[in-house]
Amino acid sequence: MMSSYTVYIDSYIKDALEVINSNSKGAVAVVENDGKLIQLLTDGDIRRLLLEGYTLDTSLTDINFNQKSITAEIGTDAHSAKILLDEQEIDHLVYVNQDNCVVEIKHRRDLDPILLSSPHMGKDEIRFIEEAFNTNWIAPLGPNVNEFEKQVCEITGVKHAVAVSSGTAAIHLALLNLDVEQGDYVLCSSLTFVASCNPILYQKAIPVFVDSEPNTWNMCPKALSKALKHLQELDIKPKAIIVVNLYGQSSDMDSLIEISEKFNVPIIEDAAESLGARYKGKYSGTFGKLGVYSFNGNKIITTSGGGMLVSDSREMIEKSLYRATQARESAPYYHHTEIGYNYRMSNVLAGIGRGQLNVLEERVKRRREIYSRYVNGLSSIPALEFMPELEGYYSNRWLTAAVLNPTKTDKTITELLDYLAKQNIEARHVWKPMHTQPLFKDSIYITAAEHSISDYLFENGICLPSGSNLTDTAQDRVIQEIKRFFE
Ligand SMILES: *Cc1c(COP(=O)(O)O)cnc(C)c1O
Repeated sequence: MMSSYTVYIDSYIKDALEVINSNSKGAVAVVENDGKLIQLLTDGDIRRLLLEGYTLDTSLTDINFNQKSITAEIGTDAHSAKILLDEQEIDHLVYVNQDNCVVEIKHRRDLDPILLSSPHMGKDEIRFIEEAFNTNWIAPLGPNVNEFEKQVCEITGVKHAVAVSSGTAAIHLALLNLDVEQGDYVLCSSLTFVASCNPILYQKAIPVFVDSEPNTWNMCPKALSKALKHLQELDIKPKAIIVVNLYGQSSDMDSLIEISEKFNVPIIEDAAESLGARYKGKYSGTFGKLGVYSFNGNKIITTSGGGMLVSDSREMIEKSLYRATQARESAPYYHHTEIGYNYRMSNVLAGIGRGQLNVLEERVKRRREIYSRYVNGLSSIPALEFMPELEGYYSNRWLTAAVLNPTKTDKTITELLDYLAKQNIEARHVWKPMHTQPLFKDSIYITAAEHSISDYLFENGICLPSGSNLTDTAQDRVIQEIKRFFE
């Protein structure tokens, strides 16, 4: 019997090699029959033994193990482990329990940081950037911007688009399109990133936060209905509803649109996280009166920073283009009648965007694969409940998100996050709901049920490393560490 890290002392050199071959660590721990460590053998050590005349059939008992292997106690954090490797000028660390029994071998690379979601370039981006340089289209506007907008329209099926400097800018422009002004009310999902609702404050308007539903984690149609009725009773006609598609998953758009039409309040779809996702076959971001994408560094595709406002309304997109370029009137001199903004995307960055669009579908596939690998790899931990995907939904799985069901475990999400951080693995809490933020402490918050779903998701939720450039090996490390945490 052998584990993937150990070989018993009564085995042969060939057995040791076999373990090294299968564990891809480049080393194996020779152990007593009770699992206690005798010595670490690297593939280099074995090569030396063979050169000295030992053979594959030499019993390990015939070898003189006289070196002391460097060990660490199981649970040692990645930072301390790395210091130990550097001090000793070695690449392998044997992790042992209190009885000096071998639990794991880590290679130096197993201690490298694993990021939540980092930029992942394809092969075309650099070509479009070079084109911009060669033609000196460095300043805002230019062929890359136009082409980037056109291609987003082609892919998603929306009619018009304007590329801007950030998703936040796009949301701001969306609110301006719907005439949101000081004192106006705007409904917004509570469980989201603050960028969804900061632009409400730019306009000195008043946010009303709406709870999530457990099925999609997104805006609960019942809660939205309740919120709109509540405002109606107060004789308030809100100007907009910002519906957020969290972690790449569409909201229940059919139900939400029906309610928005009933109360005659337009929807802005914050699809910053959900480019490439579908709902009933149609692209996320194309359901609202206006839709917003983000190309921030950690999103499914990136321009390093950027965003896009999309709509089937030509008028709204033309007006947004005007506002995003300092509201400059067409006159032979600089002539202005309205407040403008400097929100346009640069032609260099749009070049990155064009290249990224070529790999969008690949990126969605890979993120979905990562999600499935987590679900399968962690199926032995029933307390970990992954964000569902209902029939008719096709998430881009921007981030794999899950909740730790508190009725099924004593461990908390904070403990898990602390543990992973110690292993140099970047995981995150689910967004902290906006109604719990000091910034919005006086805002109205509406839930459908007595208890708040968004609070539950925040208190128990986790986002796991999900970048499309995450290797299987790195993901397996995350899975293994999570399993170890629960052991
Ligand atoms: C990232 C994000 C935004 C903002 O996009 P930026 O391009 O970073 O300004 C808005 N809403 C949500 C839900 C996001 O995740």
